[in-house]
Amino acid sequence: MTALDLLLPSTCAGCGHRGTACCATCLASFGPPEPIQVPGVGPPVWTLAPYQGAARELVLAFKERGARALSAWFGALVACALVAVGPGPWTLVPAPSRRRAARERGGDHMLRIAEAVQTASVAPVLRLRPGVVDSVGLTAGGRRRNLAGRVEVCGRPPPGTTVLLDDVITTGATAAACVRALRGAGVRTHAVVVLTSARPHQPGQ
Ligand SMILES: [Zn+2]
Repeated sequence: MTALDLLLPSTCAGCGHRGTACCATCLASFGPPEPIQVPGVGPPVWTLAPYQGAARELVLAFKERGARALSAWFGALVACALVAVGPGPWTLVPAPSRRRAARERGGDHMLRIAEAVQTASVAPVLRLRPGVVDSVGLTAGGRRRNLAGRVEVCGRPPPGTTVLLDDVITTGATAAACVRALRGAGVRTHAVVVLTSARPHQPGQ
């Protein structure tokens, strides 16, 4: 993708096809939510796509390259997914970003997606304390230690089905730390929904 592409909102962020921010082919890389096994997280985890191909490109374009128009697509996908994970009313708790990363990206990208989900309330109650580093390149243990004791809960989601929302799940360390922090504050997380999963595909799960 070139700098020029970022200036042309009518170019698909997944494949470069002209005419829309996300073409039908790339949109179809996201399917209905599939349950995946992620040991240590607790509540059921659902993913909309593997972290590869067009789905990965779209997530990266939204997260790292400022393709904000994609929030409407992601919001619609998550709204459809919520019906499968449990009864409404739903409250989305966006997984928190490091403050510096959010500043560099011009805002908290998961909050932006949650706010684009027309069928759920949003409770941005999770914050990362200072000291959390970028998890890219860390081992599973490193990711756990990076987050240990550094997720804080500021407020309570309203009653209903509480769903943690994140863009990609790898080791599950972030989801586990968020669920644990919420539990410590007396909040039950009913499900975790991620746009993509970077975990190896496990047939039948
Ligand atoms: Zn496309």
